[in-house]
Formats: sequence, C-alpha cells, structure tokens
Amino acid sequence: MSEQEQDQSDKQKYEFRKVIEELKDYRGSGTQLVSIYVPEDKLLSDVVAHVTQEHSEASNIKSKDTRTAVQDALTSIKDRLRYYDTSPENGMVLFSGAIDQGGGRTDMVTKVLESPPDPIQSFRYHCDAEFLTEPLEDMLADKGLFGLIVLDRREANVGWLKGKRVEPVKSASSLVPGKQRKGGQSAQRFARLRLEAIDNFYQEVAGMANDLMVDDRHEMDGVLVGGPSPTKDEFLDGDYLHHELQDMVLGKFDVAYTDESGLYDLVDAADEVLAQHEILQDKQTMEEFFKQLHDGNKATYGFDQTRQNLNMGAVDQLLISEDLRKDVVSYTCENGHDEYELINSTADTDDHDCTRCSATVDAADAEREDAIDHLMELADQRGSETVFVSTDFEKGEQLLTAFGGVAGLLRYSTGV
Ligand SMILES: [Zn+2]
Repeated sequence: MSEQEQDQSDKQKYEFRKVIEELKDYRGSGTQLVSIYVPEDKLLSDVVAHVTQEHSEASNIKSKDTRTAVQDALTSIKDRLRYYDTSPENGMVLFSGAIDQGGGRTDMVTKVLESPPDPIQSFRYHCDAEFLTEPLEDMLADKGLFGLIVLDRREANVGWLKGKRVEPVKSASSLVPGKQRKGGQSAQRFARLRLEAIDNFYQEVAGMANDLMVDDRHEMDGVLVGGPSPTKDEFLDGDYLHHELQDMVLGKFDVAYTDESGLYDLVDAADEVLAQHEILQDKQTMEEFFKQLHDGNKATYGFDQTRQNLNMGAVDQLLISEDLRKDVVSYTCENGHDEYELINSTADTDDHDCTRCSATVDAADAEREDAIDHLMELADQRGSETVFVSTDFEKGEQLLTAFGGVAGLLRYSTGV
C-alpha cells in the first residue's frame, strides 16, 4: 500500500469509526432497528426482494408501534438501495430504524456505509433493539498476521491468526513410541530410537510451519508457539524452524491440547502479548515524541501549535489521540483575521472576540468542523503522515490528557 493509499484508508477508518460509535448508542423501543450486510457480489435485486419479503412478514408483528417502525425502516432501506446499480467494492452496510429519544419521542435514522475496509463475507439481515455493528468493528480493529504452532510429541497443528480470526491449516501426527519399551529391546537402543523419532517429528513440524509461513514472513507480525513442557521448549531450543521465523517468535505458551482447538487456546493464552504487540508501534511513536520533547527540538503539541506547524509543512508525523472528540470552530473577524478554537463536539458554538483586534464574531458566522477531519485534511495537503495513537498505554493516555490529543513530530525545528 502506498503512503497516500494508507492515509486514505486511515481517514476512511476514522469516518467509519465515528458513524459506528453513533450507531452503537442508539436503541429502539422495540425490536425495530434493521441492519443489512451486503457482500459485493450479491445482486441488489435479490436484496430488494429480501427486504420486500421482510416488509410483508412484518405485518404479523403484534405491537402496532413496532410493526410501523420496522416497515418504515425497510421502506427507507429500499429507497436507499434504489441509488445503486451494483454493490460498491467490498460491499455495503445499511442501517435504519426509529431510535428512542426518550419521553416517547423517536427519530428515524438511516445510514449507509459503502466499501468497508474488508470485504463483507456473507449477506446478513438483522432486526433487533440495537444495530448490529460488531462485524464492522472487527474490520476496524488493528490487523495483524501471526503464525501459530501447537505441538506435543504426538501431534502438531499449524495455522494463522488473521486479525481476530484463527485459521487452522495443516496438522501432523507422530510415530514417536511411548515411554514403555518392548521386551527384548535394550534400554539404550530404545532411548536412542525414541530420541530419533522425536527429532524427526520436530523436523517434520518445522517443515510444515516453514512451508506455510516463510513466503509470508515479511507480512507477518510474529510467531506464537504452544504446547506442554518440555516439548515446546525442546522444539524452540533445537532451532528447528527457519531462522527468520525463529527470530519472530513472540513467546511460548502452555496449551493443553494440540489438535485444532489448541490453536484457539494458544491465541487465548497469548492474549496479553498480542495486546502489547498491537500498541507497540504507537508506543514507539510516543517514545520518540517524548524524546524530542525533552532532549530535541522536533516536537510540537496542542491544537494551535500543531496546526501552525502543519501549515508550514514542517510536520513529518501528525499524532492524533484515537479518543479525541473535538470540533474546530473557525472565526473570521471583520478585519479579516482568521482564528480557530477547539471545543468539545457536544458543546455549542459561542461568539468569539478576535484576539488581535477585539472585534466580535457572531457564533452564527463561524464555521464548524470535526477537528480530526480538519487536521487530516491539512496533513494531506502538506504530505504529513497521520498516526492515530491508542489510549491503552500510559504515554498514549498522556497525549489525550496532557497534550490536548494533538501533537506532531517535525521534519525540522521551527521554533513555533
Ligand atoms: Zn480581528
């Protein structure tokens, strides 16, 4: 993916996240919020037919309010579908329903999300008191590709962890003899044969993992190994794996089963390591920011300063807290001074006194925009990379609480 495409997809992900947060808060007073997931290859005429069918079945709903609400939602979805000849790339998701505003008041909401980051796999029709947002949320979660290996001396399984999905791929079972030797065999000979068989099996497992993973090693984020002790330790200590895969091992974990279910147990056991890994890049970025802040001169923070540096084209990386929920209000006074103010996205716009000439700008004449949209747009124009920083670690939390959620790593010192 080129840098530009990456920026584009970051922006799109942010837009999706905003809509999803909004949708998640909505409740229907009954089972009346409709969510429809449409894969790219689904014929829209089939979707319309399905919606029409649901509309006629809804006439059986006993509660009049719910019945009307569901039918209105379906009608609204059908109206929206009329704008499309074919489903957009990766498909689309339609949400519609009468949401509860308290005090017996309801509002009709209809949203269409086109071209999600991953293809929609299957058609889903969902009618509930809440909108179905989880499949989209999973797509927006940080992605990773991890190789999985579970083994004991009898069997082994290898596979992938893709995002949050475990994908078993291959298995092997061994001919390693049990610990009990047969009569007539010398103890020494038996022990030697058994070690040989174990060694062969480890080689076979490594071969299986290498076949699966070596080609993808540059796209992978790590390798997880699970099994009982001492098998997994012997396997890793013996350097059976391709050396580049061996270097990517993030940890070994105790897992009781080594069949396919062991792969799932391995991912559960590695939960902590995976969570750490997910924020690793954010951590490194924030380390660099603090280093520049204390010992260098290539850090900037706060909305105004960062914005100024962005305008100068001096920002290499724009750092935005994932939890920043602010709007930027821009005021232009009668003397042509432009000033910006950052406010909570739930707050009302106020009048503003120009700091340069004291002229008052009426709230009605101000322009208001989502702060992240505003900053990303500037970053786009100036070729700055935008990095969203999670608040799930201390320095990430500090970006939001101590630095206003906005900061930047500079290309050169500007003195701003
Ligand atoms: Zn002014």
